[in-house]
Amino acid sequence: MRIDLHTHSSVSDGTESPAELLATAASAGLDVVALTDHDTTAGWAAAEEARPPGLTVVPGMELSCRWFPAAAPPISVHLLAYLFDPGHPGLAEERSRLRAERLARGERIVAALAEAGYPVVWTDIVERSAGGVVGRPHVARALVEAGVVESVDHAFATLLHHRSPHYVPKADTEVLDGIRLVRAAGGVPVFAHGLATKRGRVVGDEAIAAMVAAGLLGVEVDHPDHDADERAHLRGLAGDLGLLTTGSSDYHGTNKTTPIAACTTAPDQLEALLAAGSGGTPFRD
Ligand code: AMP
Ligand code: FE
Ligand code: FE
Ligand code: ZN
Repeated sequence: MRIDLHTHSSVSDGTESPAELLATAASAGLDVVALTDHDTTAGWAAAEEARPPGLTVVPGMELSCRWFPAAAPPISVHLLAYLFDPGHPGLAEERSRLRAERLARGERIVAALAEAGYPVVWTDIVERSAGGVVGRPHVARALVEAGVVESVDHAFATLLHHRSPHYVPKADTEVLDGIRLVRAAGGVPVFAHGLATKRGRVVGDEAIAAMVAAGLLGVEVDHPDHDADERAHLRGLAGDLGLLTTGSSDYHGTNKTTPIAACTTAPDQLEALLAAGSGGTPFRD
């Protein structure tokens, strides 16, 4: 069994449609794949429709959250959520608030770049993110196509990283509220790439303990952005706190260099995750 529980389609900031993504998953030899677009369930229907025979699809999302440490600026935290009820009003409303927030903040990033002389236009970015889940990767692509930078990675390294003068933060969900909402909707909350220091500041163990008290059920241990020490630390914490552990690629099509199935989840951990979700069921034969 090969299981990848974290992927993005063009419904958010990946480059393949849900149907193309599932075809990629099948040809990579995956048995199970989760679709986890940022702050939306808009790809679920197409994924259910286009699912190749034999492939199991776990409907999910990645919720944009933040943790407020004592006396320090907020830390960005991504919360994977699986098998929740997409109709749960509180969670649906929060997803919609986040998408509106992305639009307002994306427009401000583009305005800052245009002001500094970079050839980016907001209407073009909106067109690229047809579903309304605008992210910095859409701006990165526009900068690549305009010849300003050579790759999406290069755009992040030079102009779009969170210390850039053109960066604008967004008002993400307070993570303990996000965890409670996902649980209220019958879903399984899993802390995504929680110790990826290469992405920026990360939370301490006390934050993870608080998340567990709020209802967190798992941590993503094997992720391309985690080094061996970070994985070992998370695996130890998961053992101490009784959390399930996942491994996933965080595939984004050609917006990142990581291939699908670059990291995978153990079958017993998938079983525990499926048993914990009561807001929906996987799409399968
Ligand atoms: P946003 O959601 O607008 O804050 O943008 C964050 C997204 O940008 C993440 O979900 C990744 O998909 C992408 N990203 C972040 N850093 C990089 C990078 N160095 N190269 C490519 N994509 C990145
Ligand atoms: Fe992303
Ligand atoms: Fe993420
Ligand atoms: Zn992701």
